[in-house]
Amino acid sequence: MEEKRCVLCNKPYNYKYAMFGRGCLDNLYALLKFSKPPRFIWNKESYLCTQIAWKNHKFFLNKNKKYALAQKYIALNYLDRMNIESLDDIKNKILKDINNISVFSNIVETISFSLNDIYKLFNYYEKFEEIIKELQNINWEEIDEKIAENFIKSMSFIFDVTKKSDPISYVAFYSMQYTFWQVVVIGGILTNKKLSARLLTNSLSLFGKEPSDMLIEDDETIQIIIDSEAFKNRIKKLIKTYGEDKENFIINENNPKEDILMHFEESDLLYALHDATMFVKAKKDKEGKWNFEIEIVDTYDFTDFKDLKEYADSKKSKFVDILSTTLNNFGVVSYEYGVIKKYDVKIKFETKEGEI
Ligand SMILES: [Zn+2]
Repeated sequence: MEEKRCVLCNKPYNYKYAMFGRGCLDNLYALLKFSKPPRFIWNKESYLCTQIAWKNHKFFLNKNKKYALAQKYIALNYLDRMNIESLDDIKNKILKDINNISVFSNIVETISFSLNDIYKLFNYYEKFEEIIKELQNINWEEIDEKIAENFIKSMSFIFDVTKKSDPISYVAFYSMQYTFWQVVVIGGILTNKKLSARLLTNSLSLFGKEPSDMLIEDDETIQIIIDSEAFKNRIKKLIKTYGEDKENFIINENNPKEDILMHFEESDLLYALHDATMFVKAKKDKEGKWNFEIEIVDTYDFTDFKDLKEYADSKKSKFVDILSTTLNNFGVVSYEYGVIKKYDVKIKFETKEGEI
């Protein structure tokens, strides 16, 4: 006899049922909140399918239609248990397919799926919910870095690029990744790194939308840059190299790389801008002090974090290892999904000698 596999859990079973193993069938009665069938019912699977059909106000369906309806109804039930708004579109399609099943019409599928895939997706989602709750309760300022890394790694399963090809899995995995970045990285690891949090937030585009380029001109960010050693040292060096006996000078893309590329070591700037280019327009005022117009440009690219370590002052920067390895790998997958997107950042400000 041909081996039968349960359409829900995909485990082999040998019982008279056409779709489900006995364990799964029992669970389905509970899941759908149907009361247990009376003892005299010989085929509890057929009975379940009939109950589902009746619940959907469909009578006299043949066995094929009744069983197809049951699978769609069960799938819908699992999807309803997942708190993912972007699944609504898929749920509506399944609902439409359910409504279209009748004695007189053929089964039309607006969306096709295997119940086993939906069941696996639901199990992934339950595991995700459990771990994200734990991650929400972590104090990222105090946690040991190794322990933090293990926690984060336990979420690896949502960064599975192979799930991208199935439309229903894609939506669910997209949503789980989106939540991960929002809750764990922006709301956790980057809580006190305002600029990094802001740039990642902008990168997490809304579903199907392109992120816009970002212009940053706020005093807080500018002050962090002005206070950084990298910025101070660069300005000193530029004055020395280009400013001797001059009234003005301009540093733009024509200057050597070493004079325009910026690597910040301070943790917020390090995570936010990592291969930034800085252009300068310098001019002496009446008192002989240098005035500067500064423009820093960078492409925000979370998948580019693998080089962080080279620039980081590791004593000050916690999580550099995690960001440059585990989270960087997650970022690459999220980029594939379109959860994280690249965009250009520009920071503009003016400052002068004495303020630096
Ligand atoms: Zn089963």
